[in-house]
Amino acid sequence: MKIYTEEIALSTSNRFELVDITSRVEEAVRKSGVRNGVCLVFAPHATAAIIANEHERGLVEDMVDLIRELFRPDAAWRHNRIDDNAHAHLASALIGAGRVFPVLEGRLVRGTWQNIFLVEMDGPRARRKVIVEVMGE
Ligand code: ZN
Repeated sequence: MKIYTEEIALSTSNRFELVDITSRVEEAVRKSGVRNGVCLVFAPHATAAIIANEHERGLVEDMVDLIRELFRPDAAWRHNRIDDNAHAHLASALIGAGRVFPVLEGRLVRGTWQNIFLVEMDGPRARRKVIVEVMGE
């Protein structure tokens, strides 16, 4: 079995932001040489998440609105006594810091309307990273 790992480095410029990393993940799958297996996309961060969905401007803004509504950045969370980002920790924990995709015939399998995003919820950050690990034959 082959295991190929790549680290995608990126920065964010807003408190909330969706960064489309689809082409960079697909590039990693190409470079891996794996024909059939799985691709793990994982953000090693407690205040960001990984999702797969449509890259359409209105929907991207809807996602941010929903995250704000559900996780209420201005609420009196206990963690905000020592930090100001409880909402981002809670959202990261519930949405999830990683996603797994199939790899078939050398290509990442995703729906036409499933782009891959890092969801920034405590930006701006100069250094965010996403680990892409491709495993298979
Ligand atoms: Zn914190």
